[in-house]
Amino acid sequence: MVQQVDKVVTDTLKGKLKEIFGYSQFRGDQEVIIQNILLGKNTFVIMPTGAGKSLCYQLPALVSDGLTIVISPLIALMKNQVDQLTAFGINAQFLNSTLTKAEMTRVKTDALDGSLKLLYIAPESLTKEDNLDFLKKVKISFVAIDEAHCISEWGHDFRPEYRRIYGIIENIGKLPIIALTATATPKVQQDIRKNLQMEEAETFKSSFNRKNLYYEIRPKKDIKKQLIRYIRNNKGKSGIVYCLSRKTVEEVAELLNVNDVRALPYHAGLDANTRMANQDAFLNEECDVIVATIAFGMGIDKPDVRFVIHYDVPKSLEGYYQETGRAGRDGLEGNCLMFYSYDDIQKLEKFNKDKTVTERDNARHLLNEMVAYSTLGVCRRRQLLSYFGEYLEKDCGYCDNCNKPTEKIKVQEDVILILKSVALTEQRFDADHIADLLTATDNQYVKSYEHDQLEVFGKGLELNESRDYWVSAIRQLVILNYLEKDIENYGVIRLGEKGAKYLNDPYPITLQKDHNFDEEEVKPEDDDKEAVNGNGSAHAYDEALLGMLKALRKKVAKEKN
Ligand code: ADP
Ligand code: MG
Ligand code: ZN
Repeated sequence: MVQQVDKVVTDTLKGKLKEIFGYSQFRGDQEVIIQNILLGKNTFVIMPTGAGKSLCYQLPALVSDGLTIVISPLIALMKNQVDQLTAFGINAQFLNSTLTKAEMTRVKTDALDGSLKLLYIAPESLTKEDNLDFLKKVKISFVAIDEAHCISEWGHDFRPEYRRIYGIIENIGKLPIIALTATATPKVQQDIRKNLQMEEAETFKSSFNRKNLYYEIRPKKDIKKQLIRYIRNNKGKSGIVYCLSRKTVEEVAELLNVNDVRALPYHAGLDANTRMANQDAFLNEECDVIVATIAFGMGIDKPDVRFVIHYDVPKSLEGYYQETGRAGRDGLEGNCLMFYSYDDIQKLEKFNKDKTVTERDNARHLLNEMVAYSTLGVCRRRQLLSYFGEYLEKDCGYCDNCNKPTEKIKVQEDVILILKSVALTEQRFDADHIADLLTATDNQYVKSYEHDQLEVFGKGLELNESRDYWVSAIRQLVILNYLEKDIENYGVIRLGEKGAKYLNDPYPITLQKDHNFDEEEVKPEDDDKEAVNGNGSAHAYDEALLGMLKALRKKVAKEKN
């Protein structure tokens, strides 16, 4: 019986996918996920940005009886999806404080008479008494909780109101829940499951490997020239340039404009209308490049972004992954370039001054990971995936480190020494502390062990003097899976299964030398034209203004039609 239902459902689903969305294939686990929620089971979806999470609740909403509630953290996100669904001819609306009384009444009437299929709502609105009273009268199919990591304090966008969602759902009635997130760390996942009381929920986690993205890091020297050169080589393509501060955003946008690049700024300091207009201009291809702070991007669905540039070093690998993830969402070319300098790291450290001790430790830890990712000579993809708890068997062959490897070194004695240290310290140290131990750097952790009992104390100095070398080697052994790092537990290093075997039967392992960005040269490319500097020629500036004016007129004309 169930199987029969499945068959009918499957045929209907494929048909609807084509009929409504125009897609001929499900992507990844979409179909099983949809079936799971249609069977009324709680469902947990972890997929990277751009994988197609929305469809996992949009489609079942359409084939279910009743209304689907979609909880989403941002009005911009809701608006985006509602606009899209409306364009597909679906009755979807949102409920938030921006609605007029008349619009509110319309939403409620449509919900009550059953014509409304999806209702987007922020948790703040969900907790409002009259909204709650109204929802109790509506037939509801299931609840989708998008960006579910907002539930967790360990996530990067914690929203306290998200913690109240479960109580409200219970209040409305016992409803199936589908929770979706692109955050992969186990601690956040556990928090979500616990908070939504869906420990038993089937979890669908897809790989975080974005095969079409090319990861690259260059030294942050002559950055203006490098940036212009890069964008000129990608002329006419869509791209995002992320900067740390609003001020830099403005400067870089202007720099690009005077260099004939159609670029617009985006940051939270601009008024809402300007932000919206600039975002639309980017989506409608009236400008090629958006220069932005991290305020830009969540929920923005432009499939053909060809490059994402980090002008400044981001605060965490999570952020970096999210932001680079906006490139190549259509599966075609996507280039991710980051400019790195240790100055940036120090700048970011300064921002942490006023934080609490725990916050500061956490921020420092995230930055440490960023430094390691940037400077290690190992395949970038292997590093990123290892950070998200995935092990990649081989180098990817499609990143800068694979393309232009740093010097290789073969080691065996060093590896044995490291693995032994991990075992001898009862797997309680992180990479830094193991390196301290090996190089006889005294600190409180190392002191907690009796040195003379630890045969490895200071032994690293005999093989290689630099502490940095040992930190790098340990990190590489993690990526190669000889060691395991517990990201949720202060980055403590444990001996993996592979590592334990290795100690019994060692062999030479190839490690990569780190990048030394102070010494790396910026290679001029052949077609390098001298870039005009930001505060440069007035003539170029006038032309840029003219160009923007033209684009604006075109936009106005389009809106009139
Ligand atoms: P996520 O929420 O996981 O970041 P989205 O739901 O915004 O991703 O989807 C990303 C893009 O993938 C959208 O442009 C969406 O229309 C597209 N998409 C989703 N499912 C499919 C599919 N089965 N076939 C083709 N495109 C799809
Ligand atoms: Mg999404
Ligand atoms: Zn690689």
